Amino acid sequence: MQDFQHEKARLIMTLRGMGVVEAAVLSAIERVPRELFVPKALSQHAYENASLPIALEQTISQPYIVARMTAALELTGRERVLEIGTGSGYQTVILSFLCRRVYSIERLRPLLVEADNRFRKLRITNVTSKFGNGADGWPEGAPFDRVILTCAPAEIPATLLNQLKTGGIMVAPEGRAREQSLVVIRRTEEGFERQELLPVRFVPLVEG
Ligand code: SAH
Repeated sequence: MQDFQHEKARLIMTLRGMGVVEAAVLSAIERVPRELFVPKALSQHAYENASLPIALEQTISQPYIVARMTAALELTGRERVLEIGTGSGYQTVILSFLCRRVYSIERLRPLLVEADNRFRKLRITNVTSKFGNGADGWPEGAPFDRVILTCAPAEIPATLLNQLKTGGIMVAPEGRAREQSLVVIRRTEEGFERQELLPVRFVPLVEG
C-alpha cells in the first residue's frame, strides 16, 4: 500500500507556509491517512490542499480550513466536542486526537455508516456518532466544551449556542451560499463574543 509520506510532508509544509503554527494540529493532520476519507478514484489527490467531493454531493474540507478550525477550538485534550456534519469523518478523527471525546451528528445515513467504518478501521474509540438533524444538537450530551459545524447555517441556531458551556468555544461557517464567514464564538458569563476569521464556502446545513 502506498504510504503517501512525500505528499504528506509537502502538505504539512504548505500549511506551515500559510501560517498554521499549532504543532499539535499539524501533527494530527500528519497522523490521519486522508486517502481513506476520499473516494478511491481521488486518492492520488488526498494530500493536496483542496476540498474534494465525497458521496451524495458533499465534500471533505480543505486541509487548511480543517487546520484553522481545529486550531481555533484551542483544544487541550480534556474537552468534550460536539461536531455537526460528520461527512467523511476526517475532521472528526483529527478532533479525536486532540480532545477527550467527539460527539458527531450526520443527516445522511450512508455517509455516517462509511465514517463509522473508518473510525473502526483506525481504532478510534473516543468518537460517538449519530444520525440526526444537527440543528437540534445533542441535548443528552450537552453542555459541550466545544462545538464545531462543518456545514453552514444561514444563522447559527440558538439551540447550538445554548449547548455550549460557559468558557466554551464554537467554530462555524455562517451565511448563505457565496457569502459565508468562519466565525469563532466564545461563551462568557456575560453572553457570546463573536469574531470573524475568514471567508469560506461550506455545504449548507440542511434542516430536518
Ligand atoms: N467534516 C466533514 C465535512 C463534511 S461536509 C469532513 O471532514 O468530511 C458537511 C456535512 O454536513 C455533510 O456530510 C452534510 O450531510 C452534513 N449536514 C448538513 N446539514 C446537516 C444537519 N442539519 N445535520 C447534520 N449534518 C448535516
